Amino acid sequence: MSADRDPAVAALGSPLVVAIDGPSGSGKSSVSRAVAGRLGVAYLDTGAMYRAATWWCLRRGVDLTDADSVSRAVRVMPLVMGIDPAAPGVHVDGTDVSEAIRTTEISTAVSAVATNLDVRSELRRLQRAAIDAEREPGSFSGGRGIVAEGRDITTVVAPDADARILLTASEEARLARRALDVHGEAGEAAVAATRDQVLRRDRDDSAVSQFHVAADGVVTVDSSDLDYEQTIQAVLDVIEQVAGRPQGADPAR
Ligand code: C5P
Repeated sequence: MSADRDPAVAALGSPLVVAIDGPSGSGKSSVSRAVAGRLGVAYLDTGAMYRAATWWCLRRGVDLTDADSVSRAVRVMPLVMGIDPAAPGVHVDGTDVSEAIRTTEISTAVSAVATNLDVRSELRRLQRAAIDAEREPGSFSGGRGIVAEGRDITTVVAPDADARILLTASEEARLARRALDVHGEAGEAAVAATRDQVLRRDRDDSAVSQFHVAADGVVTVDSSDLDYEQTIQAVLDVIEQVAGRPQGADPAR
């Protein structure tokens, strides 16, 4: 059934697809998830998919420098992505890997998998399918839509999204936030220890995705001087301006 024939969905308007990209430590995952929750739509963390692929390859003993073996392994990965912003779990082969994919081991290794072009094309296919599914009334969001975030969502995965946002922050702010996340403090030593994870990873990732400068039609939100709540509000404001939706509208859920 198409959205315009389902009276309940028709009353909510057409599906809303929001694409958010940004570098490590920009706050895009927590902000995107909160925005999805407030809008009453689904949430897709595409970084978690690359992390899960890395976990799966390591678990199977695949040499990450062997591009063919990596892409073969990822093609058969039994991945189940949770898209509920209240509980976005990630399962691979029946194992809940939500926490395992956040370890330093995975953060350090993930760029090797994410720069594999076959892996990118396979995961992009899954990402587009997940986004398209949320345009349908029978989906998790009931056809209300989705917020998808990552590195190449505004440019490659969903360039036709209703709102496209690049969430940035100064290097200093990004390092401090990641240090706080990983080490529980943002002192000099913690920031230094986080440097590789944030800067080296972004440099490696930049080889295959462009997420430091907004592409045409993509609106930049700089969160350097904004706290968490202000950043959520700034993103909701952009969505309202660009897509014309009332922010925080969640009549159905
Ligand atoms: O956002 P997060 O830090 O969880 O992303 C983990 C990694 O996944 C990134 O460092 C990048 O290598 C990869 N990634 C990507 N394209 C995306 C999202 C993430 O290459 N759309």
